[in-house]
Formats: sequence, C-alpha cells, structure tokens
Amino acid sequence: MINTNEILKKYNIRLSKQLGQNFLTDINIIRKIVDAAEINGNDFVIEVGPGIGALTVALAGRAGKVAAVEIDRRIIPALEETTGGFNNVTIINKDILKTDIRSLAADWDGTVKVVSNLPYYITTPVIMLFLESDFPAERMIFMVQKEVAVRMTSKPGSKDYGALSVGVQAAGDIKVLFTVSRQCFIPKPEVDSAVVRITPNGKYLNSIINKNIFFQCVRAAFSKRRKTLLNAISGSNDFELKKEEARIMLASLNLDDNVRGEELSVEQFIALSNIVANLTGHIEAR
Ligand code: SAM
Repeated sequence: MINTNEILKKYNIRLSKQLGQNFLTDINIIRKIVDAAEINGNDFVIEVGPGIGALTVALAGRAGKVAAVEIDRRIIPALEETTGGFNNVTIINKDILKTDIRSLAADWDGTVKVVSNLPYYITTPVIMLFLESDFPAERMIFMVQKEVAVRMTSKPGSKDYGALSVGVQAAGDIKVLFTVSRQCFIPKPEVDSAVVRITPNGKYLNSIINKNIFFQCVRAAFSKRRKTLLNAISGSNDFELKKEEARIMLASLNLDDNVRGEELSVEQFIALSNIVANLTGHIEAR
C-alpha cells in the first residue's frame, strides 16, 4: 500500500477539488474493488483517474496490462514512482473524455475491464462514454457518489430515474456492491460513495437498431424534466420530426400525448428509438 501523505509531501502536490481528487487510502476497500473486478492475467484494465496510484498498483499486481489515464500532469511523476515496479502499466496523461478509448486495448486478445474511482464532476459523461462507444468491456467497476448509484438502479416513475438509469440498464446488469465511507479518502469528500458493477450484455443492446439514436432519444426525453415526450422528441434538433409524426409514433406504442420520459421503461425507450431510426432512415449503423 502506498503512503498517500508521504507521496503528496514528497512531490509537493496540492490536491485539486476541481479535478475530483479524493484519493483512496483504505487497503480493504482497494482489495474489495480489485476482487469485484475479478482481475486476472488475461485482463487488460483501463483505469480512469489513477491519481498517485493506490488502486493502480493493486490492479497491476493481478492484471495482464493496465492503462491508467490521468489528466493531471502535476501528479504523473508521483504515479510513475508508485507504479515503477510494474512493467505492465502504461500511464496516459490525457483527459479521458478526449481519449480514443477503443484504441487503448485494440491489440489485446484477452478480456477488457474498466475500473475507476471516478472523479465525481464527470461521473455521468465518463460512464456514458464507455456505454455509448461500443467499448468491449466485460465488466466495469466504478466508485461513484451514493446518490449516483441510486440513479443508476432507479426504475420508471421514481424521481431518480433519468438518462443515466436508462443508459446503464440498457447496456447490461447493474449491481450496487458495497458502500464506502467518506473516511476512506484523503481529503474527505462531502458525501459517501458506493461501488457499482456494470456487466454489459446483449439482452437489450441487440434489439436496438441504432445506438446513437437510442441515446439521442433518451437524452432528449430527459433534457427538460417537465416536458412531454411528444414535445421533447419533436423539438429535438437530432431528428427534425414534425409534431404530427411524433404523435403518430407515440400512438403506435400506445403512448398518449401527455406521457413524459420518466414514465417509460427501458424496453419502451428501445421501441421508441427503433421507430425513430426507421422514420429518419438511420437504420444502418448500430
Ligand atoms: N484512483 C485514485 C484513487 O482511487 O485514489 C484517484 C481517484 S480520484 C477520485 C480521481 C482522479 O481522476 C484524480 O486523480 C483526477 O486528477 C483524475 N481526473 C479528473 N478528471 C479527469 C479526466 N477528465 N480524465 C482523466 N483523469 C481525470
């Protein structure tokens, strides 16, 4: 286990709240995360935001390869030191949201996994990036704020049900594995966290005609919470559908004009996006 305070002092690192730098210092939690990922030598692990490497070294000890994508140039020297004993770690000093994630493990013949104690300010965009990009992950283990874990697992009609719930549940199985107290970090965040596991599967994804359109529909539906689905879909620049076309589309799914996005199940979103895909002629790219 690396000594966080010692490393921060040695490299004179002032942690950035803006970059979500709350570093894990509890070895049991680190072990539980690596165990949850069931890491073995056949795995290529992508870690988003390795920080100074507390989780990275535990992953490297069991994985075939680890690609650690860290935005903050100031902490790279410390990360190089902590991971220096491993020849299977590649440090990539980049913004994950501007990284071609599919190319990272392109030459790897084994399985690919994603493990991250996510920087909280970009939790949703990072998760959506992996879900939307056809990234071939066998499983993803994310530490997120407790409330975000609730949103991921929420069902239609709940106040927490939103684009993230639909996106995650459409992609695969989602399970909240355990919660993590704020005491396990330096510095202590203002909220508690939870570790979730997403296991992508084809159950829903294979029935989506066009994945881009599916996610566009989901985003449009939740873009303004009080908006009816009819107005959200017909008002979206992504589709350029006339209101009457959108009305007919909803009617074909037995949905009335007043229905709102938060009432639709994952299956209904898929059915809706498939009709939009057919209507707008974008049926080729999945
Ligand atoms: N993995 C370490 C741990 O568990 O102790 C650090 C986790 S800390 C919550 C999040 C890390 O993500 C920070 O090191 C931060 O600099 C990094 N980060 C923030 N935004 C990022 C981005 N856009 N791309 C890559 N890394 C980012």
